[in-house]
Amino acid sequence: ALDKLFPRKTLGFFPSPIHKLERLSAMLGVEVWAKRDDVSSGLAFGGNKIRKLEWLVADALAKGCDTLVSIGNIQSNHTRQVCAAAAAVGMKSYTVQETWLEWDDPVYDKVGNILLTRIMGGNPIMGGYGYSTTEKDTWARALEEVRAKGGKPYAIPAGASDHPLGGLGYANFADEVAMQEQQLGVFFDNIVVATCTGSTQAGMVVGFAAQEKRRRVIGIDTADDEAMTRRAVTKIANDTSELIASKGGKRVIVRDADIEIIPDYSGPAYGLPSEQTIAAIRTAAEMEAMLTDPVYEGKSIDGLIDMAKKGHFKGQRVLYAHLGGAPALNAYYKAFEDPEN
Ligand code: PLP
Repeated sequence: ALDKLFPRKTLGFFPSPIHKLERLSAMLGVEVWAKRDDVSSGLAFGGNKIRKLEWLVADALAKGCDTLVSIGNIQSNHTRQVCAAAAAVGMKSYTVQETWLEWDDPVYDKVGNILLTRIMGGNPIMGGYGYSTTEKDTWARALEEVRAKGGKPYAIPAGASDHPLGGLGYANFADEVAMQEQQLGVFFDNIVVATCTGSTQAGMVVGFAAQEKRRRVIGIDTADDEAMTRRAVTKIANDTSELIASKGGKRVIVRDADIEIIPDYSGPAYGLPSEQTIAAIRTAAEMEAMLTDPVYEGKSIDGLIDMAKKGHFKGQRVLYAHLGGAPALNAYYKAFEDPEN
């Protein structure tokens, strides 16, 4: 329905597939399904940013911009998807690739997402330090550089999150889930989703709150900073609700209780897996051939498995939102080295 209120440039293959995770469900004694936004796009392995960028790219094109400028970690899935979206619509991209964590690996800045960005003819600018969703000098300089060369840049913040249109993609996701539920004849009582820069969860909170039947959206923090993540999700949810209402869409009230952030699976730090993260990644891979990464989805699948084992979802159905991230796995081979093999 949001298509009618805001321009959207199709970049993905939507609706993304939903399927039951049969073996995991049997092991956990809980019905677990997955919605595969990791396979929702033909653009360079896709991921959750494709869904968000459909609305930002439409805006960029309408404004006559020719270059997307964004920022992220060296192994950012987001900057890779910005570069992919730019390539697919014939724009340029500049992406500031910062160091947000210390992962001692000689190929960390060579393989995975950064490699794909280079192959797609992006312009990665290596430099900058520390995770932050606030505006950075490096990003401002990249925007200036594009202007100095006569280009017209379109600024996209980290994760395409703290942007007026950042929450639309996942607000619309809620409608897509409701449509698929009707087709499948099921209802998902719980959505489990990795959360970091916030607009994925925030969009879902707004989108699902607009529906008649209530359900839980459970954000598994991956930023390893619960307070920061909560601030980000709350702000974007409120802004998104306001924006949709301003165009005649349904106004929803975002209550504090609607924003559930689980901090227990994010350690030891952003981008660094715990032993439990690695074990959960192996479980999803061995039981479902579903690949998850040590930065985001490894942590959310860990949360889902652990919470299910502790009885949180008894008698309920769970939908795992798989947001992508597997391209970073190459940069983490060390986490899976087995001396026996
Ligand atoms: N999963 C993957 C694979 C991601 O790349 C991201 C991006 O940060 C997330 C989850 C978290 O999404 P968000 O930043 O919108 O909270």
